[in-house]
Amino acid sequence: MGSDCLFCRIVAGEIPATVVRETDSTLAFRDIDPKAPVHVLVIPKEHYADVATLGQGDPALAGELLATAAAVAEDEGLLGDGFRLMFNTGAYGGQEVFHVHAHLLGGAPLGPMLA
Ligand code: AMP
Repeated sequence: MGSDCLFCRIVAGEIPATVVRETDSTLAFRDIDPKAPVHVLVIPKEHYADVATLGQGDPALAGELLATAAAVAEDEGLLGDGFRLMFNTGAYGGQEVFHVHAHLLGGAPLGPMLA
């Protein structure tokens, strides 16, 4: 994708981010507007618009993304009390950045998802 995509530009180092974990294929960085004490975004370095295209196009990479999210959850001390991992997808899902990203949220009780 490249210059039009905010998260591709973070991967390229053109826009700063607070990176908490990086692998060959994934990057995890803190959300700029956190909605919980821990709010990390986990992305594949390769551009996929959303979790549907990632899951269908490269299931192995989707698995690597989940493994990175789990490792960050452990690093952030979230495994004991739990956390939320979610993908906003498309217009109805409230997705604003069209480079697939998992929101990892935790550090406090988050309440019911659909309250
Ligand atoms: P979504 O609505 O699922 O597309 O979420 C996009 C997320 O990206 C929001 O939670 C934003 O706060 C976050 N965000 C936008 N720009 C940046 C940035 N430059 N660095 C880190 N997070 C960002």
